[in-house]
Amino acid sequence: MRRIVMLVLIFALLCGCVPADEPLPSTSFFAMNTPMSVQIDGGETLLRGVEELAYALERKLSVTDEKSEIFAINSNGGGEVSSETAELIEFALDMCESTDGALDITIYPVLRAWGFTVDDVDYDNGFVLPTDGELSELLALVGYEKVEVSDDSVTLGEGMMLDLGAVAKGYASDRIAGYLRKNGVTSALLNLGGNVYALGKKPNGVKWTIGVADPINGGTLGTLQVEDAAVVTSGGYERSFTGSDGVRYHHIIDPSTGCPADSGLASVTVVGDSGARCDALSTALFVMGLDRASDYWREHGDFEAVFVTSDGELLVTAGLEDNFITQGDYGGTLSSVIR
Ligand code: AMP
Ligand code: MG
Repeated sequence: MRRIVMLVLIFALLCGCVPADEPLPSTSFFAMNTPMSVQIDGGETLLRGVEELAYALERKLSVTDEKSEIFAINSNGGGEVSSETAELIEFALDMCESTDGALDITIYPVLRAWGFTVDDVDYDNGFVLPTDGELSELLALVGYEKVEVSDDSVTLGEGMMLDLGAVAKGYASDRIAGYLRKNGVTSALLNLGGNVYALGKKPNGVKWTIGVADPINGGTLGTLQVEDAAVVTSGGYERSFTGSDGVRYHHIIDPSTGCPADSGLASVTVVGDSGARCDALSTALFVMGLDRASDYWREHGDFEAVFVTSDGELLVTAGLEDNFITQGDYGGTLSSVIR
């Protein structure tokens, strides 16, 4: 009996019945202010289609492109937008409310004062930090509850500005995955600047392995196996600069202080069905800090998360306990499981 099993196994291997992990057609490009790469079990036309879609979304949603819909409403205090943009703004506003303002898509005037999203800032020459007085004046312009969306018409309060930077890449991953599915693709991996979306499984039928970046030492701190899921990381390490005072400042602002969030977290990775929701959540949970973020997870439960604290602790929510495999410096050193 054992000999028959061995023979079947050898035959299967010789026939190539255990498929190899062939590299898929892929492309890399720069859109939405970040490097993007995609691999698709499909042809050139689909790769070009994905790039076009990313550029089209950038043209619509960019906060700096003078021709974008967001730029227009920011310049005019509101106005008509496409249904797609109106729906995304409404979704983002719901997330602002649900996270009790940890996410606030009206943070842009404050973000700008910190020099983020402005192209020509020379940080090396001692970027001048905003003063407390400036910040409190700018914080008066922040408040997602003052944004009104009715059909496709958006109204902003005086001096307010929207920035969809915390949700747009995740949304783009959902749109691109939808485009690929509609075109018959059953296997693809998208990485839109840290917003990963795994469509189906690998062509060999095995789930995708996604590495989670180590925000403190660089490299990878662990891996997850996923299928039809978004894996989105937010961390201070992604965009930051050293101020004229020698302190490191990053691009995720705590709307309650107007300063880069100092919540004790180095990064948050969120895993779930929707790229847009995971993107909104990774930013918001980073602002909330571990305790509030854990409570939010217990209350909602439709996603899982990996947290790295500023002092190097690594925690996962219960649904990832058996999925997340630590590696490198973190091999076997999961600090705790959140239940
Ligand atoms: P992410 O990389 O998804 O965490 O998003 C960070 C980006 O979202 C920043 O570069 C800003 O454009 C914007 N942003 C920063 N802080 C906030 C916040 N508290 N709420 C909403 N958007 C934010
Ligand atoms: Mg985000």
